[in-house]
Parts: sequence; structure tokens; C-alpha cells
Amino acid sequence: MQYDNTPVSQNIEDRRGQGGGGGGGMMGGGGLGIVGVIAVFAISYFTGINPAVLMGGAEMASRYVNHGAPTQPAKTGPAVDPDDPTRKFLAHVMGTTEAVWGTVLPQQTGLEYTPATLVIYDGATRSGCGGAQAAMGPFYCPVDKKVYLDTSFFRDMKAKYGGGGDFAYAYVVAHEIGHHVQDELGILDKADALKARSSQTQANAISVRVELQADCLAGVWAANANQKWRILEQGDVEKALATAQAIGDDRLQTAARGYAVPDSFTHGSSAQRAKWLTAGLKSGRIDSCDTFSQ
Ligand SMILES: [Zn+2]
Repeated sequence: MQYDNTPVSQNIEDRRGQGGGGGGGMMGGGGLGIVGVIAVFAISYFTGINPAVLMGGAEMASRYVNHGAPTQPAKTGPAVDPDDPTRKFLAHVMGTTEAVWGTVLPQQTGLEYTPATLVIYDGATRSGCGGAQAAMGPFYCPVDKKVYLDTSFFRDMKAKYGGGGDFAYAYVVAHEIGHHVQDELGILDKADALKARSSQTQANAISVRVELQADCLAGVWAANANQKWRILEQGDVEKALATAQAIGDDRLQTAARGYAVPDSFTHGSSAQRAKWLTAGLKSGRIDSCDTFSQ
């Protein structure tokens, strides 16, 4: 992927090196968290040891129980070098999504595009949709309009799922931004309302449609970004397709449990993901991403 001449986004929130607090979380580094506090009280109940002794101070207990505040103040200001290559790369990727959707959304739908924010974190952080943890993988939170990305996911992609390469990583970000575009279009709200009055099986099927559409929208981004800045290099699309296939739910579930359960698929099969990414990539148009009527 060639991105040197692409725009750089300002909508990056780098929370790495903040010990998971992210400004006041219960998973703060050095603290016990609410689970730890409960465990300490359980130990003290059975051993008769004063819980304050176990926790190293009653003040700490009261701060947790009453305020959920971290025992160590969260670091403020840039935690890492702004020239950090991962951050720089992600700022370029976000920059391309902003320029593409800032043009494509008004052109193709008549709606203005309001950019999302990309939160980069390590370990754990807080989101408007609850606690974020590395094990959850990247996600979009419609409440605070932010994409949460633990950078260890990229290492995992390479090591566990055979995906890798900068365009494959960019595609992951573009998929999450695809959810933000769905949010802007009111599709996420409609899908949620529909899911609320559906059976579990039907709700999963709706989730699959939402996920495949985000893949297709990532394809729309790639097509338009390539037209503007010639970002694609030899083999990039193949690698992104391999990644899409590698992180299809059937592959992930098989890797995790040794077998796949079709009813609980929420991202679609590998073949479906590749099909919809290609649809967006070929057309560059939002209206080619109607995963709901097909
Ligand atoms: Zn998704």
C-alpha cells in the first residue's frame, strides 16, 4: 500500500501507555478493579484478615467502591512519540477515509459526512459502549462515534489468522469506518430495531448483513482512495481478501473451538466477506452494498 501522499487525520486518540485507565477506568493499571475488590473481601471473610490490610489501605477500597476511580492518576498528554510508525500509518488511513467519505457520501447520498475518531489503545480502555479489551478485537461504538483498536490485533492477524500487510490493516480500519458510515446513514439504528423484535437466529442473520455491508463499504473506500491516490500495490487486494477470508466468523470460530456453528455467525462466512468486499471495490458505489435485499 502506498500512502505517503495521502492526507493525515487529526481524529486520532492515542491512549497507549495509559495502563488501561483511559482517564478513569476500573481496569486501571496498579489497581484491583471491582472484581479484585470483591475477591479481597471474599478472602478477608474466609481468613478473617482485615480487607484494608489485604488491599494496602482502606482509602483505596473506598475510592473503588464509591467512585470507581483508578488508584493511579491516568497519564495525560501524548503517551507515545507522535512519529510512531503505527500511529502515523493509522493517521494516513483515517485521513483517506475522511477524504473519501467526505466526497462520496454527499455525492452518492446527499448527506454530509461527520468523521469518526480512532482510539488506539493497548490492553484495555473505556468506550461509550462499555469496557474495551484487546481480546474483543476492533469495534465501532455508535454512542461516542469512535473506533477502538488495540494495536496488538495487527500482530494477531499476522500470527494467528495468516493475514497481514499494511493494506490488510487499513482494510480493518475501513471496515470499522464502514460501520460509522452505516451509523451516519441510519442503518445501525434500523438494524437494531429489527433485531429487537426478531428471534436470536434472525437477529444473527441481520448482524451478518450489517457486517457484510461494512466489508462492502470498505471496498467502496478502497476503490475511491485508489482513484485519488493510487494507494494499491501489486498483491494488496489479494492480501485483503485473504484477511477477509481469514477473519470470517467460520474461520475464527473453527480456530477457537475446532468447529463452526452457522447460527451464531455474526460476520458472515469467508466467501461472503470476500464477495462483498469485491462488490464495493469494483463499483466504488454505496448502492452496490445492499446486503439486505440479497
Ligand atoms: Zn464489523
